[in-house]
Amino acid sequence: MKAINVGLIGTGYMGKCHALAWNAVGPVFGDVPEIRLGHLGEANEELASRRAAELGFERWSGDWRSVVEDPEVDVVSITTPNALHADMAIAALNAGKAVWCEKPMAPGLDEALAMVDTARTSGKVAILGYNYIQNPAIRQIGRIIAAGRIGEVSHVRVEMDEDFMADPAAPFGWKSEAGSGYGALDDFAVHPLSLLAVLVAPIRRVMCDMARPYADRPSEGGIRKPVETYDIANVLLEFSDGASGVLCVNRSAWGRKGRIALQIYGSGGSILFDQEQMNQFALYTTDMPQAEQGYRTILTSPHHSPYGRFIPAPGHGLGFNDLKIIECRELIGRLRGEDGARVIDFDHGIAIERAVHAMAQSFRERRWVDLA
Ligand code: NAD
Repeated sequence: MKAINVGLIGTGYMGKCHALAWNAVGPVFGDVPEIRLGHLGEANEELASRRAAELGFERWSGDWRSVVEDPEVDVVSITTPNALHADMAIAALNAGKAVWCEKPMAPGLDEALAMVDTARTSGKVAILGYNYIQNPAIRQIGRIIAAGRIGEVSHVRVEMDEDFMADPAAPFGWKSEAGSGYGALDDFAVHPLSLLAVLVAPIRRVMCDMARPYADRPSEGGIRKPVETYDIANVLLEFSDGASGVLCVNRSAWGRKGRIALQIYGSGGSILFDQEQMNQFALYTTDMPQAEQGYRTILTSPHHSPYGRFIPAPGHGLGFNDLKIIECRELIGRLRGEDGARVIDFDHGIAIERAVHAMAQSFRERRWVDLA
C-alpha cells in the first residue's frame, strides 16, 4: 500500500490524540505504510500554523475545506465539536477521502443518517472514534464472554463519570450548548454503548431520565448563560436476548476522572472493569472449588494482543493515548481491506446514535422507547 497522507481538522484534546496516533502507529506496529502528516485545518490561520509546527504537519489552513479538497490527502481525521462533524465528514467523503470522525456522529439523527448514506455512496472507509473498545482488557473480556466462561449474561451495569463540569464556576462552553446535542447522553453514553455493542447483545428498549445540576454557567462579560444540555443521565436498558442493564453517566461527578465502570453478571460468573484502572479487570467464575471462589485480578500483558506491540513487560500498562494508536492501526487494516478490523464504522455507529435519540425521547415522553 502506498503512503497514507493524513488530513486533520481540529487540534484540541482529541486532535492532538489523533496526531500522536498517526505519528506512533508505524513505530508501534511496524507493519503499516509510511504515514505522511499532510494538511492540518483549524479555526483560524494563526492557530493552524502554530499547531502544524507543533504536531509535524506539512501544510495548514484556517479553512477546513482546504483540507478535504487537498488532492494529496487520503484520510481526514475530524476532531472538531460535535455540531461540525456532519458537514466535514460528508464533504470529505464526497471529495473521495476516507474519514476517521470523533464520536458522536452528529447532534441530529438526520445528520447522522446523511453521514451513513454518504459513506455508502462514496464507498470510502468511514469510522468513528470509539477508542475504549480497543483496550486489550476489553478485548479479553469479550473473549471470556464469547467462550461462555461467565455463562449467559443476564445483567450489565455501566457508569461513565468525570468531573470536568462539576464546578458550578466552570465557564460556559460548546458542551453546554444545545447545538452540541443532549449533553452527557451523546458526550458520554455513546462510549459505554460502544462497549456494550462489542460485548453483549443489541439493545431492545430504553427508559431514560436526565438532570441538569447547574441552571447556568459564567460566560463572557460577567454574565451567566443558561445551560442548555443535561450533564447527568440515568438509563434502564433491555437487551434483545432479555438481559437487563443500567447505564448512568455524569460529567459533573466530583472525584471521578475517567471512570467507565462495567459490571457484567452471568449465570456462571461475573466481570468487573473500570477505565480508571484500564490495565486490569476482575473475573469471578463458579468453576473454582467453593472455598477458593472470589474475584481474581488479571493485569494485561503481552498475552492480551496488541499489548505486546507497545511493551514486552506484563503489568506495566498502556495509557489512554495508546487506545487511539490501536484504533489507528485498525483503521489502516480497514483501509487495506484486512478481515476483522475492529472498528465501529458509520454503518454500525448509527445504532449507537439511534439508542441516544431513543433515550432522549424516553426522557421527553416519560416512558420506555423501543429501538427500531
Ligand atoms: P476541543 O474543544 O478540545 O477541540 C476542538 C478543536 O476544534 C479546537 O482545536 C477548535 O479550535 C477546533 N475547531 C472548532 N471549530 C473549527 C472549525 N470551524 N474548523 C476547524 N477547527 C475548528 O474539543 P475535544 O474535547 O477535542 O472534542 C472534539 C471531539 O472529540 C468531540 O466530538 C468530542 O465528543 C470528541 N471526543 C472524543 C473523545 C474520545 O475518547 N474518543 C474524548 C474527548 C472528546
